[in-house]
Amino acid sequence: YNAFFLGTANVIGTVGNHFLESAMRQNLLSQKQLQDMAEKDFLTGLLNRRAFSTRANCTWRQAVREKHALGVVMMDVDFFKRYNDHYGHAEGDETLKKVAQVVGSHARRPLDIVARYGGEEFVGLWYNLSEAHMRSILESLRDDIAALQIPHAASDGAPHVSLSIGLAYLQPQADQTLDDALRLADVALYLAKEQGRNRVVIKTPEVR
Ligand code: GH3
Ligand code: MG
Ligand code: MG
Repeated sequence: YNAFFLGTANVIGTVGNHFLESAMRQNLLSQKQLQDMAEKDFLTGLLNRRAFSTRANCTWRQAVREKHALGVVMMDVDFFKRYNDHYGHAEGDETLKKVAQVVGSHARRPLDIVARYGGEEFVGLWYNLSEAHMRSILESLRDDIAALQIPHAASDGAPHVSLSIGLAYLQPQADQTLDDALRLADVALYLAKEQGRNRVVIKTPEVR
């Protein structure tokens, strides 16, 4: 009777354990899915603006402590309203995905961050590179967008989809914030648009 009792208890224990473990695995999986949904942009799979802000502020503080340079970058698809008007919004979405993939492929090191900032705008942060190296990364990013050869018949600039890129290149100081750098990158982006789009413009903070 004892043996039967122990055997039965054992079986119940094993089965119970199995279900408990699978429930825990499931839970872990949905936690990961929830985190992905909170951090990632639904269309492109890049980080969203909020996740960028969290991570980039962390990297910013590290750069202040370690006195390393940062490249803070704003990127914007040229004449994208016209692209939608000409090819349709669905095609616009497909194009944004392709552009996002190229943007993502240029931020490979652990501390580099790129994200969809909103709409047809992307933002990026590159850690501890020389200004020349930063420029070469952004020029090759721009080249790779051109190499996609996505026709853009309504563009005033290139006959294909292109990006304007503004880089703020700086050594973060304790009394500056990431938002200051983003504003400077935005100024550089504005200049890139003004100078004819499909180009990289670099701004460095005025010497104090
Ligand atoms: P510029 O060269 O000066 O940047 O001109 P632009 O037309 O790209 O700039 P504007 O800001 O006037 O238009 C941005 C367009 O991007 C308008 C909007 O319809 C489109 N857009 C924003 N988000 C999405 C999206 O998720 N999908 C699609 N298909 N279009 C989007
Ligand atoms: Mg825009
Ligand atoms: Mg645009």
